Amino acid sequence: MTLHLSDIEAAAARLKGKADATPLVPSPFMTEAAGVPFHLKLEMMQPIGAFKLRGAMNAVMNLPEGAQGVTCCSTGNHGRGVAFAAAARGIRAVICMSELVPQAKVDGIRALGAEVKIVGRSQDDALAESQRLVEAEGLVEISPFDDAHVIAGQGTIGLEIMRAAPELEAIYVPLSGGGLAAGVAVAAKALKPEVKIYGITMDRGAAMHESLRAGHPVDVEELPSLADSLGGGIGMNNRLSYPICREFLDGTVLVTEEEIYHAMQVLFYEDRLVAEGGSVVGLAATLTGKLPKPGGPVATIVTGRNLDMHLFHRIMAGEPVTLGDKTIRGQTYEP
Ligand SMILES: *Cc1c(COP(=O)(O)O)cnc(C)c1O
Repeated sequence: MTLHLSDIEAAAARLKGKADATPLVPSPFMTEAAGVPFHLKLEMMQPIGAFKLRGAMNAVMNLPEGAQGVTCCSTGNHGRGVAFAAAARGIRAVICMSELVPQAKVDGIRALGAEVKIVGRSQDDALAESQRLVEAEGLVEISPFDDAHVIAGQGTIGLEIMRAAPELEAIYVPLSGGGLAAGVAVAAKALKPEVKIYGITMDRGAAMHESLRAGHPVDVEELPSLADSLGGGIGMNNRLSYPICREFLDGTVLVTEEEIYHAMQVLFYEDRLVAEGGSVVGLAATLTGKLPKPGGPVATIVTGRNLDMHLFHRIMAGEPVTLGDKTIRGQTYEP
C-alpha cells in the first residue's frame, strides 16, 4: 500500500476550515543566515498548537458511522489532535502516554475532555496499552504516524507550502515517526519532483534516522530531550511511514540539545515566535551548517508550540535546563 497525491487532495478537502491554511512567512534573520530566502510554515498556529490536528482530524472524520471511540499512543501532540477531533465528532477518546510526556501536554489533552492513561517509560509501553484498549473496549486505534489517513492529513502541509511558494528548492521537516515527512514529501514531490525534502531530528533517540541507515526499522533508547515531540520508535512492524520516508527523503540530519536550545532562542528573539524544541530543528540544522547548502529558497515547518512555559522562560534567559540525566547549558542570547 502506498500514498497518492489524490489521497492528500481528499484530505485537504476534508480539512478545509478545520485544520488548514496556516501562514508561510519569511524569516529575515534565517534568510541572512542561510544565504537564501528562508520561510517558516507556522503550524503551531493550529487550534491545538501543533500540525498533528491535520492527520488526527482526517483519520477521525474517516471513521465509519457508529464508531464508539478512538485511542492512540502519543508523545502529546497527536493525542491532543485526536482528543480535539473526537470531541468534534462527539465520540470517546482515550490517550495513552508514557511518563516522559511533559505535564503541559497531558493537561492540554485532559482539557479537551479526553481520558488519559499514563503508562511506562516509553512510547512502546503507551502503544501496548492503546492496543489492549482496542481489544478490551472496542476502540479504534489511530497511529500517530503509521496510518494512511494520518499521513495524508499531514501531507496537506506539503500542498499548502508548494502552492504558496512553488520556487522552493528544499523543505526541512522535523522528523520522528515520519508521518509528517512522508506526507509532505509525497505531496511536495507530486507538485515539484525536484524539490528536496530533509528530515531533521535530535541526536538523542533518532529512530527513523537509525532505521533508514540500517535498512529496516530498529529500536532506539528513548531519552528525555528538549524535542520531546520527536521521541519514540517507528514501530518494528512499520508499514507506511518507513517505506515512504526511505523512498522520498533526500537525507536526514541530527541536531544536539544545545543546538535546539539556541534555535528556540533565535526563533523567539529574531522572529518573535514561541515554539517547542521539536519544531525548531530545521532552524538548528541550518544555523549549524549541517544541511547541504541550498541554491535557492527553502522552508521549514515550525510544527508546534505546546511546551512548558517555565522551561521556555529558562531557555530564553540562557539558564541551564536539566532533563533526566542531561543538563543543557546554553548561552544568553545576544540579538
Ligand atoms: C509529532 C511531531 C513531529 C514529528 O512528526 P512525525 O510524523 O512523528 O515524524 C514534529 N514536531 C512536533 C511538534 C510533533 O508533535
